[in-house]
Amino acid sequence: MGKHSIDVAACPCCAHRTGGGTCPVCFWTDDGSTDKDADIPRGGPNGDLSLSHARLNYAIYGASHPRYQDVVRPPRPEEMP
Ligand SMILES: [Zn+2]
Repeated sequence: MGKHSIDVAACPCCAHRTGGGTCPVCFWTDDGSTDKDADIPRGGPNGDLSLSHARLNYAIYGASHPRYQDVVRPPRPEEMP
C-alpha cells in the first residue's frame, strides 16, 4: 500500500483515489457534486454535465465525457477504490 492510499480523496465520478481537482482517470472536475445532487448539472467546470451523466459516460467511454477519451489515463494501482 502506498503512503497516499488512505488520505487521498476519491473521485466522485470514477471512484479512483485521484485527490480532487480534475481527475486524470476520467477528467471529471470535482465541483462538490455528491450522490444527493448527482442529477443536477452545476454549470461549473463540468459545464452542463451532471455527475450522474459523467458516471454513465465513464462506464461507456472510460471518460466523464467522450471528448476526454484521448486525454485520460488508466488508474494506477494505488488509486484503485
Ligand atoms: Zn475520476
